[in-house]
Amino acid sequence: MTDRNVYEMVCMIYALFSKATPRQDSASVQALVDNLRDIPDDLSGYIYRKFQDLDSLPQNLTKACRGFWETWKMENPRSVYREQCQTCGGSGGFEAYEKLSDGTVHHFFAMCPQCAAKKEGFRYLTPSQWETQGVLCMPPGYPGGKLQFEYDYGITEKPEDSPKSYRNMRALKLLMNHRTGYDRGYAMQDARKAS
Ligand SMILES: [Zn+2]
Repeated sequence: MTDRNVYEMVCMIYALFSKATPRQDSASVQALVDNLRDIPDDLSGYIYRKFQDLDSLPQNLTKACRGFWETWKMENPRSVYREQCQTCGGSGGFEAYEKLSDGTVHHFFAMCPQCAAKKEGFRYLTPSQWETQGVLCMPPGYPGGKLQFEYDYGITEKPEDSPKSYRNMRALKLLMNHRTGYDRGYAMQDARKAS
């Protein structure tokens, strides 16, 4: 939280309990500014509402605010860690590519060691740790995203033609079928033709 946000929140909390507002440069406000720095600004409303439930002003405002912040984190496990996470940039993990011995590339989502909920049987490594295992990870916030990364690193070949250039939908669909396996609809059409 920024200095101003902390001070505004403190003033509102003090007013709630009919206490005189402390000066912004007072030691107690400065201590709060230092202690609440890592709490997101948009949480001040939530914290203020928590104070509304109390009968009196707590002696230790830092402890009270951080306690409410902890409560909020437990209530919102996904949003909070992601937002804060420096390792994965908030996506919860990394697009990871491993070249297999047969030359194909195995793509998977490597979960973030910092913020992902740990499950047994999974590995939680940082991109540089993955790199030592021969796995390439897309850096968080890669410009253009996953597809661009795959083009840039030659993982996926950039299509020469846009879908529009295929003469008709059937040609495009056949191409897709070729990639994904045969389409059942066409198989039945062909069976009818043959009979
Ligand atoms: Zn993370």
